[in-house]
Amino acid sequence: MKPSRPESETRLQGIGVSPGIAIGPAERVGKTLEEPEHLTIERVDVEPERERLNEAIIATREQILALQQEIASDDGENHSAIFDAHLLILEDSSILNEVIRLVETERRSAEWAYYTVSKRYIDSLRKIADPYLRERAVDIEDVAKRLLRNLRRDGDADDDGLRPAQPGTSILLAHDLTPSDTVGLDRTRVKGFATELGSPTSHTAIMARSLNIPAVVALHDLPEEFPAGDQVLVDGYHGLVILNPSAATLAEYDALIEREKTVLTDLEPLRHEETRTADGRKMVLSANIEFIEELDAIVSNGAEGVGLYRTEFFYLSRRELRDEENQTENYRRVAEATAPHGVIVRTLDIGGDKLCPELFEDPEPNPFLGWRGIRLSLDQPDEFRLQLRAVLRASAHGKIRLMFPFLSSLEELRGAKTQLELAKEELRATGTAFDEDIEVGAMIEIPSAVLIADHLAREVDFFSIGSNDLIQYTTAVDRVNDRVAHLYQPAHPAVIAMIRETVDAAHRNGIWCGICGEVASDLLLTPIWIGLGVDELSVGAAQLLRMRRAISRLDSSRCRSLTDRLRTCGTSAEVVAECEVLAGDAYPELLL
Ligand code: PEP
Ligand code: MG
Repeated sequence: MKPSRPESETRLQGIGVSPGIAIGPAERVGKTLEEPEHLTIERVDVEPERERLNEAIIATREQILALQQEIASDDGENHSAIFDAHLLILEDSSILNEVIRLVETERRSAEWAYYTVSKRYIDSLRKIADPYLRERAVDIEDVAKRLLRNLRRDGDADDDGLRPAQPGTSILLAHDLTPSDTVGLDRTRVKGFATELGSPTSHTAIMARSLNIPAVVALHDLPEEFPAGDQVLVDGYHGLVILNPSAATLAEYDALIEREKTVLTDLEPLRHEETRTADGRKMVLSANIEFIEELDAIVSNGAEGVGLYRTEFFYLSRRELRDEENQTENYRRVAEATAPHGVIVRTLDIGGDKLCPELFEDPEPNPFLGWRGIRLSLDQPDEFRLQLRAVLRASAHGKIRLMFPFLSSLEELRGAKTQLELAKEELRATGTAFDEDIEVGAMIEIPSAVLIADHLAREVDFFSIGSNDLIQYTTAVDRVNDRVAHLYQPAHPAVIAMIRETVDAAHRNGIWCGICGEVASDLLLTPIWIGLGVDELSVGAAQLLRMRRAISRLDSSRCRSLTDRLRTCGTSAEVVAECEVLAGDAYPELLL
């Protein structure tokens, strides 16, 4: 049973997907797809019903196109691509044929038929473990809601029932918000939102981040009813939602908001500065992206290039996206937008929790130890070379580096480089331009790669440490298993030793070493990376300026003394305690 309205302050823990704090009167909105009445039609009404469906499709298409245009002119075409996906769903023949069959043979009303078919797709997508595919359910639901509203005989199609109805409402509490709900939010009114569903990789979360709206998702205890106008606090930093916050909580957060404002104003001038430690050591501060939509946010926050471009999206979303031309164009745009620094494109890292159903019909017993990353690419050389050609072709237009994920052996690196040479040959044969000297990097995220790092380093131009996986494989803790989440410890002395060994091996062999996993964004651990001599940190957009400031306050020799002391630490707690002293001393205002 879900809780009903809370009487006093109630704290709910979810996942913060867009940082910031918003407080205000809230409203519970956005029910999931509503089931229409089960109406049947007469035989003579079949044709008019089909006609009605057609008209609703046309009206829906027009609304999507209008929304797409509105967003494109508003946001520089950033989010409009999502609506291409909606148009494809709207015109998807397998959905429409099934709907028409239900109208013709079972004599269901168009509403009931459309609801039945789309609901089936939504439910089966929601059962898939892969978060990217689960998110596609949101797109289908979005289109279905819009189409059903257009079919409603009595309804006002413009009233989508998802915007706050109460004047003054500034926080939305919803079962879920679709991407078009999110971009359609009245940003002058809505200051934050919280949803029961959702994940950090959802379009909705990405948009919330680039629209700068604090948001928390995956709140399983959100009450079904919440009196309109009652206060809610959304803490996007900590993934916390507080219903009816007490006076003491409000005062505490007021102070935090004031502090945040001062900090952000103070960080502004850093946007255009280089990243240097207090004693002048230059570091590269780049950003991670997964979607081209994130480019604006990272460029405007002063990223020195993209340190990790995850490319799974091309393979987990619509098939057309994998097309060589599309990938080339996409990489070119990222390289141009991030000039002169450029982008590190990581080749496909499908597998683990990112499963692509056409490749994984039979589930693997241990997907994180199975067919993943470079293993899969080497087993599918044609697909692999398609991506390599796209990266190479784009490299003629801007600075692009290439990096291979999930390497566990030298043979795999050599196999990948052989495919790269073949891809180059293919391009030369057609006279296609590319950067002949494209730099190649190895992701170090498996302990065996750390232990042969000297060998790997002799055959690549750089290392990038994938700490998310390195932690999971070093400590045998599944990174997506809630039950063992407390054992997933970035500051585990064994993890620090792995990273130390990787950086040293890189430097012994004259190459640079970066970190692109989440630990790179952890302000508490920054002194360690400086002390170990890490050359590049690739972080999330929201963390860029804070990280630049933190680095500017740290002195390399103090950080080196810290990392020397860490050799004697046997537990994460000891490591964290050492870092707290240094970080707390250097930039207390940045540590929330
Ligand atoms: C990592 O493992 O740290 C990494 C950056 O890659 P991913 O999170 O995509 O596995
Ligand atoms: Mg990884």
